[in-house]
Amino acid sequence: MLEIRNLVVDIDDKRILNGLNLTVNKGEVAAIMGPNGSGKSTLSYVISGKEDYTVVDGEILLDGENILELDPAERAALGVFLAFQYPLEIPGVGTMTFLKAVMNAQRKARGEAELTTPDLMRRVREAAEELSINQEMLKRPLNFGFSGGEKKRMEILQMALLEPKLCILDETDSGLDIDALKIVADGVNALRSPDRSFLVITHYQRLLDYIVPDTVHVMANGRIVRTGGKELALELEANGYADYRQQAAE
Ligand code: ADP
Ligand code: MG
Ligand code: MG
Repeated sequence: MLEIRNLVVDIDDKRILNGLNLTVNKGEVAAIMGPNGSGKSTLSYVISGKEDYTVVDGEILLDGENILELDPAERAALGVFLAFQYPLEIPGVGTMTFLKAVMNAQRKARGEAELTTPDLMRRVREAAEELSINQEMLKRPLNFGFSGGEKKRMEILQMALLEPKLCILDETDSGLDIDALKIVADGVNALRSPDRSFLVITHYQRLLDYIVPDTVHVMANGRIVRTGGKELALELEANGYADYRQQAAE
């Protein structure tokens, strides 16, 4: 599904990713853990196509196609979804208006016809029911005055509606209480499927008690320095990242 080969990325002439290799199979939930500043967010932005990064070398293949030349909308059309660490509150935009805009942007990039309003309402209602999301929330402006848990529900709903192939969650657990954490985990677990892969980036092991990953990768100084099974997360929690920082520096 996702294959990253020798990815080298700079920001303002500063090297951030340094020969990163990573493979995520179809249907796999891969966790990436690592110290602050190791380049985890940079990796998620570069996959989703955010500008400001200079890709110096390497490839990012999605189902065998190099996506580095594609803009963010084209990548979203292919099924890349990035969940934000801190969802924005947009007081002037209704939630349904927003959902319609993101879904139609994806359809347009795929060369598909726009959704009609009744079609949109039906899809949103079905997805909200499946994820046990209270539909009252959908009548309010996007994320405006939403609790942490409601923002997470909103994000999971967006994810469900866009039917991504590759979902990237970048420290979506930071600052969440246990109830909101469980909302994210239940949502992700409900959306797990043999055709969908997840990249779950987290600094702490706690989220992985609820979203049990197939593989765990350790990132340090801009590359993946170790790969293991879910037990690796527990080891990291117990021992910290000091050894990996040292190893990567060498
Ligand atoms: P992580 O998500 O693992 O904490 P980041 O990808 O956010 O790591 O950051 C990796 C490194 O890149 C850090 O040293 C950070 O200071 C630097 N960095 C990130 N974004 C920028 C930017 N826009 N300009 C300059 N340096 C940046
Ligand atoms: Mg950080
Ligand atoms: Mg980060």
